[in-house]
Amino acid sequence: MSHHDVIVLGCGGLGSAALYWLARAGANVLGLEQFEHGHEQGSSHDHSRIIRLSYDGVAYARLAPYSYACWSEVEAESGIKLVHKTGGIDFGPAEDNAELQAVIDTMKAVGTPFEEWTPKETMQHFPQFTLPDNVRVIYQADTGLVNARQGTQAHALLAKARGANLLEGAKVTAIKPNKDGVTLSTTAGEFSCGKLVLSVGPWLGIAMQMLGRTLPITVTREQVTYFKSPNIRDFAMGRFPVWIWYGNRENSFYGFPVYGEVAVKAAEDLGGQITHPDKRSFEKDERSDRTLHHFLSDFIPSMVGPELYTKTCLYDMPPDRNFILDILPGEPNILVADGAGHGFKFASLIGKLMTDLALEGKTPHDLSEFAFDRPALTDSQFKPAFKIQDKVLTEWFTKA
Ligand SMILES: Cc1cc2nc3c(=O)[nH]c(=O)nc-3n(C[C@H](O)[C@H](O)[C@H](O)COP(=O)(O)OP(=O)(O)OC[C@H]3O[C@@H](n4cnc5c(N)ncnc54)[C@H](O)[C@@H]3O)c2cc1C
Repeated sequence: MSHHDVIVLGCGGLGSAALYWLARAGANVLGLEQFEHGHEQGSSHDHSRIIRLSYDGVAYARLAPYSYACWSEVEAESGIKLVHKTGGIDFGPAEDNAELQAVIDTMKAVGTPFEEWTPKETMQHFPQFTLPDNVRVIYQADTGLVNARQGTQAHALLAKARGANLLEGAKVTAIKPNKDGVTLSTTAGEFSCGKLVLSVGPWLGIAMQMLGRTLPITVTREQVTYFKSPNIRDFAMGRFPVWIWYGNRENSFYGFPVYGEVAVKAAEDLGGQITHPDKRSFEKDERSDRTLHHFLSDFIPSMVGPELYTKTCLYDMPPDRNFILDILPGEPNILVADGAGHGFKFASLIGKLMTDLALEGKTPHDLSEFAFDRPALTDSQFKPAFKIQDKVLTEWFTKA
């Protein structure tokens, strides 16, 4: 059985980043991945993820600049540009929009610069949008996208160059903590380590079961669609921003400028259905597809064109939809990193935080909101902060 300072269990976006930062810190580190690295069965494939300072919570907004800084270091070491700032539009129904208000309040509290635009001003800046008067809009210049597939690959390659091992096709089937560390049984043999980083994404509930625990993680199958817009030039990078529509607990959407394909990507946030990571389908959800078309026809009509393809992906969410970045209670040698369905932008930073926790037992950042002892993870009566979409289209999207 080979022994390592640290084993990273699960090498998607977060685990690959942990592998990199651990190797960079000089640890003897092994990554275990059940599939081939870069596979499309989890959460970290496809071209783009939104990265932004505009968050609806101070804990995230304070971490966000560090996340940009970590990506910059990976860009410098790999020579590959991974983050593209496009500017970002956050918008939604103006009336009683608690979600959008939370973003504004957070940016004010943290001192993040932003502009509030009227719908008319927004359409002057970006005539691709068609907005009614009762929409509230903010613009933040640092919003952009991070290349998920390449970011994950870059972390893994740089980690290997610094001496890390990454074993693919090694599915962990048992996790046995002991007083000195952890022993893992896998389909590729047995391994032991002093510290274990659990970065299994949608498989977190299953990994917890291996430790005799339960954790209320909801896994949903989500999807993104690339549209072959007839007006592709209007949506090129530099001409069109990243955008997020905050539906205020109703349907929310987001999208990107042209990137990765000669097509424009858009999606419904949390538009999918609950699934199991090992029993999921890769089929398109027709309700979410219809809803997205309705939204785009109303608000960004010139973007709509034939679909190039729709790709599915998994969200893994604690009931408050907040990250888990903590030492597992009662198991000082096991660390958990969960991105809660919005974690890729922070992947590199999370890898660094896990490195600090594994090697130093602490980080310079306040991670208390992402701890295991919060009500969302300890109170079985906790009401989920998200709602799984049903078949109903809200009044905003009934035009088409
Ligand atoms: C449609 C969609 C859009 C998103 N948009 C954004 C966005 O705009 N911005 C943003 O910041 N985030 C976004 N996210 C969220 C972000 O992509 C995820 O939070 C992030 O990619 C999660 O990475 P991960 O490493 O935790 O999970 P994964 O990438 O799924 O990696 C987990 C890995 O663990 C491995 N594993 C699991 N169990 C075992 C085992 N027993 N043995 C060995 N290996 C195992 C899996 O095979 C997998 O490779 C989006 C997610 C989706 C699905």
